[in-house]
This record gives sequence, C-alpha cells and structure tokens, in this order.
Amino acid sequence: MVKYHLVANDDSHALVLGAGIAGLLAARVLVDHFSRVTIIDRDDLPEKPENRNGIPQAHHAHILFVRGQRILENLFPGMIAELTSAGAPTVEWTADCPILFQSGWTPRFHSKLVTRTCSRQLLEWQIRQRVMEYGNGQLSILSSCQVIGLHGTKTHVTGVNIRHEHVEEIINADLVVDATGRESHMADWLQELGYPAVKETVVNSFLGYASRTYRQPRNRPDWKALFVMSNPGISTRGGLIYPIEDNSWVVTLSGRQRDYPPTNEAEFFEFAHSLRSPVFYEAIKDAEPLTPIHRYRRTENRLRHFERLSNWPDGLVVTGDAVCAYNPVYGQGMTSAGLAALVLHECLDDQRKHHPKGDLTGLARRFQKRLAKSNSVPWLMATAEDYRWPEVEGAPPNHATRFVQWYTHKVMAAAVQSPDIFQTFFEVTNLVKSPLNLFKPHILVRALMKHSESRSAEISAPPLFWHKRETLEIAQIK
Ligand SMILES: Cc1cc2nc3c(=O)[nH]c(=O)nc-3n(C[C@H](O)[C@H](O)[C@H](O)COP(=O)(O)OP(=O)(O)OC[C@H]3O[C@@H](n4cnc5c(N)ncnc54)[C@H](O)[C@@H]3O)c2cc1C
Repeated sequence: MVKYHLVANDDSHALVLGAGIAGLLAARVLVDHFSRVTIIDRDDLPEKPENRNGIPQAHHAHILFVRGQRILENLFPGMIAELTSAGAPTVEWTADCPILFQSGWTPRFHSKLVTRTCSRQLLEWQIRQRVMEYGNGQLSILSSCQVIGLHGTKTHVTGVNIRHEHVEEIINADLVVDATGRESHMADWLQELGYPAVKETVVNSFLGYASRTYRQPRNRPDWKALFVMSNPGISTRGGLIYPIEDNSWVVTLSGRQRDYPPTNEAEFFEFAHSLRSPVFYEAIKDAEPLTPIHRYRRTENRLRHFERLSNWPDGLVVTGDAVCAYNPVYGQGMTSAGLAALVLHECLDDQRKHHPKGDLTGLARRFQKRLAKSNSVPWLMATAEDYRWPEVEGAPPNHATRFVQWYTHKVMAAAVQSPDIFQTFFEVTNLVKSPLNLFKPHILVRALMKHSESRSAEISAPPLFWHKRETLEIAQIK
C-alpha cells in the first residue's frame, strides 16, 4: 500500500501513549499517515494473551459490540476468522443470549447480529499482533516505559517525558496521542504547561464487579451467554455469563449502590443465588473454577471536556477512556475506542486535503471536537440508565437525559414481547444504528402504549425460540 505522510519531512513521527485497545487502534490509523509510529506502555507487554498490571479490567467479561467487531474487521481484514481459529465462540445475540430485562426475558430469534466472544486478553493480544504486522518497519513498541509529562510550549506539544529503568528522557514527536485510559494524567500535564483546569462530568451509580473464569460444564444449557439485569427499586444485583476461548465462561457479578459482590467463594455463590433468576446460579453452581475471584470498583462514567478548552495545543490528541470512560456494565468502551480511531482517520484525511504540505495546524482541536460528538450517544445511553438509581452521584440529569430514560424504559418493556422492537433496540445499543430508529412509528406507538412494569422475580427459565413459542401457543389453543 502506498502511504501518504502527513508531515512533510522524511521522519514524521507519531507517539501513542498506552497500548490498550484505544492506543492500538489509533496506532493502526497513524501508520497510514506518519513514517514512524511509536507506542509506549508502562507495562512489560506479554508475548501471549495474558493478564498485565495496566489492564486490571481484563479479569472481567468484555463484550465487543457488533459495531466494534465490524470496525475491527474493517481495520484488520480477517480478524474475525483469526479470533475463531483462536477458539472464540460465535454468539448470535438475539438467539443465544437470553437477557432478563426489568420487564421480563427478551425474546429469542435469529437476527444475524453475531460476534465472536473472547477474553479481553486474547482480543488485545490479537489486535497488537495485527498492528505490529501492519506497521512492519514503521511501528515500534517501547514497553516498561512510563510517561511522566508533556514536553512543549503553551501552543504546541512536541513530545513527552518518560521514565525507563529510573532514567528520564524526552521523546519528540509531531503528534502525541494520549490513550492511557481512565487514570490518564493529561489534565494535570496540561496545567503544568499553563492550561486551565479541564472540566469533568462524573455520574456514578457505585457499581462493583466480581468475576471468575470457569470451565463450561459438559451438560450445557440451550443458551451460550446469559445476562440478568439489575432492576432499580427491586434488585441492585446483576450478572453475565460470557463464553470465551478454551470452552470457558467468564462469570461477572455486579452490584449497584455499593452492594458490591464479594470475592469469597461461598459469598460469591450466595450473591449469584440472589439474582432475579435462579437460572444463573443453577448454571454455575457445579462448574469448575479456573481462576480466583477478582473485583473491580472504578466504574463511574467520567467525561473530560478537553474540547471545551478555549486554546488547545497543536500536536496533542486524547482518545479512549482518557477522554470518556463509561460504566462498564453497558459494554461500550472498546467500541467507542474503535469509533474514536475512525474519527482520527477522518480528521487526518481532512488535514491532508486542507494542508497538502503536511502541516498539522488545527488537527488536534478538530479531533477533540469531533470525538466529543462521537462519544455523546454512548454517554447519554449510559448515564440515562445510571440516573435510574436513587443514590447516583453527579449533577442532576438534564431534560434530554430524563426523556431518554423515560422512553428507553418503555421501549424495553415493549421489546420483551416484540422481536422486531428488541432487534432495533439491540442494534441501537450496539451502536450499529442511530437511536432515531427507536422513534419510527411502528415502535413509537407500541412503546407509548406499554406500561413499563417491573417484575420482582423471574423464576421461569429463559424463553424458547420465538418461532417455537408461537407453534406451542397455537398448539395449546387447538
Ligand atoms: C471492569 C471493566 C469491564 C469492562 N467491560 C467492557 C465491555 O464489556 N466491553 C467494552 O467494550 N468495554 C469494556 N470496558 C472498557 C474497556 O476496557 C475500555 O474502554 C477500552 O479497553 C479502552 O480503554 P483504553 O485503551 O482507552 O484504556 P486502557 O484499557 O485503560 O489502556 C491504557 C493503557 O495505558 C497504559 N498506561 C497508563 N498510564 C501510562 C503511563 N503513564 N505511561 C505509559 N503507559 C501508561 C496502561 O498500561 C494501559 O496499557 C470495561 C472496563 C472495565 C473497567
């Protein structure tokens, strides 16, 4: 492939801080525009799909949305086949994963909304291999290097300060991309360069996770994944059974409003037993555990408004969780990181059109503004749900958020009885379709007529496939 180099010198250099999903996807895009791309991570990156300190969330179920998988396949053709060969199961979500909504089980039917499901460790490792292959000769990774600050002036970032084995040095670059995640220090580093404080919006429903990986039992249920949602006013507790490679399940329990799931085995089972459906506990009670139980509690939605600073330095962009981290229970983070990579790609392409000589002026600011727009839909969806919880921390929701909350509740109530509504809802939450699709007349009318009842308990098993259910009902009537 012929590559265009944005900066008009022989050695244009982009530096990506963080080798998580957002950093790797940004690097993939940058390879098309810079003659050299360097990724820096403070971890010693493993040579196999393994846990590492910088990604504590990898112990927990990581759903890759349908949209996220499409972005990956687009950036790395053949990725789906590679995940399949590495053992990632295929899940057709509407057929293979019953979800216990607040108003009942979702219907089961075929929809072709399919993804490969795997551990976060395998997914990140696979992406890293493909980025290195794609950037062959152009891309390098510096591991065990901690970024400790920015280098530059008030108008222009020219590199970063790093620490490697107690030695500090400066690495220069034409573009620095911060993808250091939720704990990013970028706001502080900008202040050190003389910028004002970056405003943040935080919405916290105090959700905690506890997860353990199990070998799937021999007698498998008729589903591949199972999701029991919490229900405001009725149960703070939820859980997900998520199939991954090596015939394993990641079992993630979650509790809202500081009802944190325990890490002690007996209490973990007790918590699972207390979910709104006994099907969850029955599925895992005899399964063989493969790992200890890990917990995670930094789950607040946190939006850093870099786009609102009146001045923004050229040569610096911030992406992924470092800009917008969501409550993980909605599964949006990796797909949003993919969307951010696409925004970066668009901005670099536009820059090429408007500055054919390779000047980067204005690129970084334009990126932050467009990224803020791209993040707005998943942010609204996550926070509207979190505001259902009475003890949520954060400024009171605005009218748009209250409306989304009210209407989504009605759509979800209608969806448990209507496969077409559930399919559209699933496509919207998987960021495949615009939320405007939920306002089409055939959905709007049925949603508005629906009482959004909540069920206190669902002791029945998940439903049969929709077509089987219809046949059964007709047989019963006869
Ligand atoms: C418990 C949990 C469950 C989740 N479940 C899902 C899910 O189901 N689906 C989904 O899509 N998303 C999920 N997410 C979100 C998802 O993990 C992230 O949104 C996504 O991976 C993008 O993160 P990132 O690359 O921006 O940051 P991170 O994944 O946090 O990566 C940051 C990287 O930067 C490195 N780093 C940090 N500081 C420095 C420094 N100073 N110097 C050098 N390197 C540094 C770290 O070592 C790390 O490699 C979940 C998150 C959590 C916490």
